[in-house]
Amino acid sequence: MFVSVSDFPSFFRLSDKEIDEAEKVVSVYPARCTEYYASLASKDDFFDPIKRMVFPSIEELGQNLPDDPFKEEVQSPVPFITHKYPDRVLFVVTNFCPVLCRYCMRKRNWKTSCFEIGEDEINRAVSYIREKRIRDVLISGGEPLTIELEKLEYLLSMLKETDTVDIVRIGTKIPVVAPQFLTDKLLSILENGKKVWINTHFNHPVEITSHSREAVEKLLGIGIPVNNQSVLLKGVNDREETLFELFSDLQRIKVRPYYLFRCDPVKGVFHFATSVKEGISIMRRLRRRLSPLAIPYYAIDTCKGKMILYPDGVTGIKI
Ligand SMILES: *Cc1c(COP(=O)(O)O)cnc(C)c1O
Repeated sequence: MFVSVSDFPSFFRLSDKEIDEAEKVVSVYPARCTEYYASLASKDDFFDPIKRMVFPSIEELGQNLPDDPFKEEVQSPVPFITHKYPDRVLFVVTNFCPVLCRYCMRKRNWKTSCFEIGEDEINRAVSYIREKRIRDVLISGGEPLTIELEKLEYLLSMLKETDTVDIVRIGTKIPVVAPQFLTDKLLSILENGKKVWINTHFNHPVEITSHSREAVEKLLGIGIPVNNQSVLLKGVNDREETLFELFSDLQRIKVRPYYLFRCDPVKGVFHFATSVKEGISIMRRLRRRLSPLAIPYYAIDTCKGKMILYPDGVTGIKI
């Protein structure tokens, strides 16, 4: 199911130099991709967007930036939970991911061996959620839908039984990188969770295929709302036309664009960053072409939480 660096030449157009450099990069930041996702790339294109998102680049090395600029680890009152907002928590249940996106903001977690939450830790985290009367739980990772299904079922049932919790959002890339993984068993666990919403992660129109569309339809079919978080990535989707196509295609498959993040100033990913201003300018142009139903919030992350940047209208931010 997975491909690694030695398999990449059969999916991507690569120069010898790129292959040599990738060997160096993987000793610091490993590479992993599903066969399905790699197969979306065009073999003729050195600048293919899928390749750029998963193939290790020498630009990842030597960046003098922090690993965790938004202090997710410092603001963690109990293991696996980050608490920044009064009503919401981020709940990172594993660091395993079937696709290691080169722009991942939690790249710092790649270095340690794989972890997955245990039952005792679920109990402890849920006690915290109950004690603080949390309303909105964001389950993330790694890829949260890869944890043992019994554990996922247990976690969702604990949250279902927590009266203060109105919504459980699961941040998952499964519909994009491994849509076949969304089995009937997994779907029924999500459905039984009752409060589950899915936040998925399409970045480029080529990711919207008949398979990903089918995965989304299955989720919508069992009453799970599907929203999308993208990252604005230099050399991948930082053009008005690409984002126009992405957001309008998402709307066509009934996935609501929720956020477009500026790529974070995190060590090892910053070569993907566009300027804040560039993002605003693209959003302003898109605003004329798409209804707000197809327009995500353009936001940057900070230690205190996410900051939404409005293309026009009233804002206190000078840019
Ligand atoms: C993103 C995030 C949330 C959720 O933010 P929304 O703006 O509600 O989507 C909550 N907690 C943390 C730590 C986050 O990073």
